[in-house]
Amino acid sequence: MESLAKYKFSFLILTIYISLSFIIFFPEKISKYLTNFTIEKNQNSLSFNHDEITVFTIGTGSPLNTSRVQSGTAVFIKDKFFIFDVGDGVVSKVEEMNLPLYELDAIFITHFHSDHYIDLPYIINRSWVLGRNKDLNVFGPKGLENILESNISFLELENKHRVDHHGANIMNDKYAFGISNEFIIEKNQKIIYDFDGVKITAFNVDHYPVEPSVGYSIEYKNKKVVLSGDTKANDLVFEMAKNADLLIHETILNSLLKNTVKVLESKEMYRNSHIVDDIQNYHTPPNEIVKLANKANIKTLVLHHLIPAPDNIIIKKLYEKQIKGFNGKVYLAKDGDKFIVKINE
Ligand SMILES: [Zn+2]
Ligand SMILES: [Zn+2]
Repeated sequence: MESLAKYKFSFLILTIYISLSFIIFFPEKISKYLTNFTIEKNQNSLSFNHDEITVFTIGTGSPLNTSRVQSGTAVFIKDKFFIFDVGDGVVSKVEEMNLPLYELDAIFITHFHSDHYIDLPYIINRSWVLGRNKDLNVFGPKGLENILESNISFLELENKHRVDHHGANIMNDKYAFGISNEFIIEKNQKIIYDFDGVKITAFNVDHYPVEPSVGYSIEYKNKKVVLSGDTKANDLVFEMAKNADLLIHETILNSLLKNTVKVLESKEMYRNSHIVDDIQNYHTPPNEIVKLANKANIKTLVLHHLIPAPDNIIIKKLYEKQIKGFNGKVYLAKDGDKFIVKINE
């Protein structure tokens, strides 16, 4: 037995020695293998599944956390790839998740707080650089058109350099900018996308003083996915989400933030305490969401835009205490989580 152990140990040492020697003496061969592996991995990136609506919570954080990517949700529906909100870090995370950015069809913005649209110029540019060879429609409330207009001069030099370097055949600058689909909602809700059986309705939410501010309802073949956007508890969200298969709702742990305000005040950090105090009045605590979601018969509830992020056991417990009364399935989403709504159920 002892000699067998010795043999195994010698074999392990020999393997490590040969591997290290190979890396030291043949780095070109190793790098070629790694490049091949990376390209094949990217070629096998997520394909569209027509039997389901696939939803990824790309970013679930808020401006209060740097540990998570800010707001961003990917929705694959039929043969379309949509992203709802593009806060800081969304583009990098999409690439890390190996989602096909060059296939992106449309972006939907809920409101113009930076944690929901600061990556907008980058996602327009990056999807084009990665090979998007079709229009990229951008939907959003009033203010969008100006932002996309200013993006033209913002990206002018970058786009020129790409075309000069690679040629207009490879870098077709016809697709280098997003197309504005700015909308105004007159009676609380408006159908803004109705194509090939997929219907998307924008609806007003209450994120005062941020106006306009909207949520989105996505319907396809009797299935419904709803995103609340940023809002305080709002009946219209749950009216739109009635019987929804999936509701992705923002949330805030006011009980914890109240204590944070006190601590900041005791340290005479008045600017910070003022801001943390202010943000409590335009988001929704988990227990209020659960109450309304139960009444609206929501099947699966996903909490994102978590203020603060449940990244330690104490904060996680505080959330769990408030969500345990939900009748369906409930999740505290993490960056990169996947949720599936089956079409034929
Ligand atoms: Zn906001
Ligand atoms: Zn926000």
